[in-house]
Amino acid sequence: MNDQRSPIDRARLAELTGRELGRFADEHPVSAELFSRGQRSLIGGVPMPWMMRWAGGFPPFAARAAGARLTDVDGHEYVDLCLGDTGAMTGHGPPAVLAAVADQGQRGITTMLPTEDAIWVAEELGRRFGVAHWLFTLSATDANRAALRIARQITGRPKVLVFSYCYHGSVDETFAVRGPGGGTVSREGNVGPPADPAQTTVAVEFNDTSQLEAALADRSVACVLAEPALTNVGIVHPAPGYHQALRELTRKHGTLLIIDETHTICAGPGGYTRAENLDPDFLVFGKPIAGGVPGAAYGFTQKVADMILERHSLEDCDTGGIGGTLAGNALSLAAMRATLTKVLTKEAFDRMISMAERWTAGVQKVIRDFGLPWHVTRLGCRAEYLFSPNPPKNGTEAHDAMDFELERFMHLYAMNRGILLTPFHNMALMSPATTPEDVDYHSKVFREAVRELAG
Ligand code: PMP
Repeated sequence: MNDQRSPIDRARLAELTGRELGRFADEHPVSAELFSRGQRSLIGGVPMPWMMRWAGGFPPFAARAAGARLTDVDGHEYVDLCLGDTGAMTGHGPPAVLAAVADQGQRGITTMLPTEDAIWVAEELGRRFGVAHWLFTLSATDANRAALRIARQITGRPKVLVFSYCYHGSVDETFAVRGPGGGTVSREGNVGPPADPAQTTVAVEFNDTSQLEAALADRSVACVLAEPALTNVGIVHPAPGYHQALRELTRKHGTLLIIDETHTICAGPGGYTRAENLDPDFLVFGKPIAGGVPGAAYGFTQKVADMILERHSLEDCDTGGIGGTLAGNALSLAAMRATLTKVLTKEAFDRMISMAERWTAGVQKVIRDFGLPWHVTRLGCRAEYLFSPNPPKNGTEAHDAMDFELERFMHLYAMNRGILLTPFHNMALMSPATTPEDVDYHSKVFREAVRELAG
């Protein structure tokens, strides 16, 4: 909990939240009924524990979604700015992907044999990101896990370096933060770690080159696993020159660099890597890569690919830890091909980014008009407001600026008026189908929420 929380009247916040919770319950009887039924067969009434975080006390159950709109089982239509926390950044059910899925479905979903689409997708990813060789998984989590294993195998080193308050999926090594004494400690809420994270991980603060250099110096770190800008604790941008230092220091100390573009793909067709000329050894891209169909990819440079093949054992390669029976299946790859050809195009990104600029300007105006000690920030087609006056420099600062009660009120207020935001922090994402009217409607609702809070 933030010690310097926004100067909001907490009693008023509690009263307004109570009112909005009542409204949500009244207007969502069918979802409430399903949630109650779900208690008997699911943990907490939902298929994933984080779905309990939706701000209404229970989530609206989805009936259908298309483009930038979602309709729940109670018949409410939402402007969807959550977009499956990036899984549906393409908009829900892009027609090109639906057609490819229907077609491939007729021709075999999963066979354990390669299809030509795999080569086409790898070639296209190579063009976009400048990384030549690719493998596939079903999730970004699995791609990160595999990349870590391979990095350890190649370097013969045991540890992974991550940034405090990063998120890369449910990857054991990443649930670590830099403790107050400078050591690496388990992140709060870490469920059943297989080992003390201090044995597997070094956590440092993002944007701190001296911590980075000190952590790499003993040459026990196989790889740095990094989002190029943190996106999972609000957005934290890299300081000028940080990426250059990261690359130079990793090279100097023989540590591999994995750039996880799963969210920062929002920066453009080649993600942050292409937009800012990064030069990673590995690159991970999941979530929207197949237009919402499960699938992810991880790529390597020629040098890394050669090292992988030198160590490859034909006899044991099915049980060595780089797995996934359904990974690289024909359906995911057909969906990836359609997404990369027809959906996540340069023209689509240009539109999406201009919508995010509009969203940012709308929120900024309200923050200014009401003199709030908040700020809004943007990365490509992703934008976010944070409850601190200045942009945080690292994950810990961003984490300390969080305000759970206030965040939940803002989400609930928006949801009750037909807007979905990701249930964690205050992120809004634009799809190719998001319209200026959708964005302006958010600005209007955001202003009303702030006005009510101001009293
Ligand atoms: N990498 C990043 C940067 C992410 O934000 C996430 C999920 N939020 C993941 C990886 C994991 O993705 P998934 O849950 O689809 O495996």
